[in-house]
Amino acid sequence: MKRKQFLTPRSAAAISGPAVGSSTPLVKAVKGMNDILPVDIGRWHAVEGAFARSMQRLGYREIRTPYVEPTPLFVRAIGETTDVVEKEMYSFRHHDEPLTLRPEGTAGAVRAYVEHGVHNTEPVTRWYYHGPMFRAERPQRGRYRQFYQLGAECIGDAGPGCDAEMIDALVGFLQDIGIEKPDVFLNSIGSGDTRARYKEALTAALSPMKDKLSADSQRRLTTNPLRILDSKHPADAEAIATAPTILDFLSDADRAHWDELRRQLDALGTPYQVDPKLVRGLDYYTRTLFEIKGAYDKLGAGSTLLGGGRYDGMVKDLGGPEVPAIGFAAGLERLLIASTLEVSASVVDVFVAPLGEGTQAPALVLARDIRRAGLRCEVDTRKASMKAQLRRANALGARVCLILGDREVNEGVVEMKDLAAHVQEKVARADVVARAAAVVASPVPPAREGDGK
Ligand code: AMP
Repeated sequence: MKRKQFLTPRSAAAISGPAVGSSTPLVKAVKGMNDILPVDIGRWHAVEGAFARSMQRLGYREIRTPYVEPTPLFVRAIGETTDVVEKEMYSFRHHDEPLTLRPEGTAGAVRAYVEHGVHNTEPVTRWYYHGPMFRAERPQRGRYRQFYQLGAECIGDAGPGCDAEMIDALVGFLQDIGIEKPDVFLNSIGSGDTRARYKEALTAALSPMKDKLSADSQRRLTTNPLRILDSKHPADAEAIATAPTILDFLSDADRAHWDELRRQLDALGTPYQVDPKLVRGLDYYTRTLFEIKGAYDKLGAGSTLLGGGRYDGMVKDLGGPEVPAIGFAAGLERLLIASTLEVSASVVDVFVAPLGEGTQAPALVLARDIRRAGLRCEVDTRKASMKAQLRRANALGARVCLILGDREVNEGVVEMKDLAAHVQEKVARADVVARAAAVVASPVPPAREGDGK
């Protein structure tokens, strides 16, 4: 019988696909919104856990905000002319209040920061979060309508030290989960007046080519010209290639921030590439912008693992004081596709197999004793055959199977089977919990010829 030791990326998929032989349900999940089945959840937990640990090591604490927020929060924070707000929000009215399923986490975190007057209690706030986000995008590999983000916000520090620290820590986190050579792309889009001067120059440079641009970019020429740089439309490629770069327009203060950020990243030994055309899709960014890509073989070249940047104006925009901030968000499904993390497939440590009429109650007691010792244990309550119970024990990845027949109960013993070492012995009932725990804690012996059949 095959014992599964590790859950590997199932055909590198992060999302539970339909199982072979699955039946057709009367009602199916919404397109682009996926079930994460228990068979896959171990890898999700592993990446979420690695993320939480890496943020906690930097002094970040977890924040949980509602999945639903008033629509004006996103319109104000993300920007009216962004793709997310224009096309991708799940918005509805409830008792006449316009509400939206959150498409990202920063706006809600900043709303909470302002609403709870957090700036009054601490000079620097470091929060991380994880949870579902909702965007009505065209679903494809690595792009879903309900997807999960891991993110963090550092509010109250103008950088560039905390910018460099964040980027460096993210590279470390990605390496922790087996994404070996993540590529950091870095840009600065300056602050308000830098961007105003750049927008003017960009509009002047692109206007003569207006007719050649895609319809979206033609419209953006007047509404939000920076977003043209983000266009993937082939018609816009030439205009983007010849457009002036924002780095040439940085004010003295913006340039000093940019230069210092790069010096600090160099000092940390964190490699990065300057990408002067990097603008990202959300309007709230100021100064530092970054994206990290990687695992191109699994994700394709265009797919970003995570993105972030500074948003020095948002706290004030949402009614708070003038407080600078920086944050990022990573797509959890994409991290899972890219990550080489393996997790144990074992669901329980011990399986208790009662056989015979009077064995169920003693088996329940034995299983409870085992759990009280801190081990994971399932007991068969189906009255199944020995063969079926052993099959179940192996399928659950149990290390030990404790067999309890009428004779064993009468004699005060248990048959203990080490399912990895393929050895069996009779153990006194009084000793069995400690003995089973010792086997569970012992290393799995190397596979023998003929195992796994
Ligand atoms: P954004 O909030 O747009 O800056 O995106 C940050 C990260 O979230 C991206 O780099 C992706 O990894 C992930 N992401 C954004 N949109 C989606 C989506 N529709 N499906 C899956 N992941 C997404």
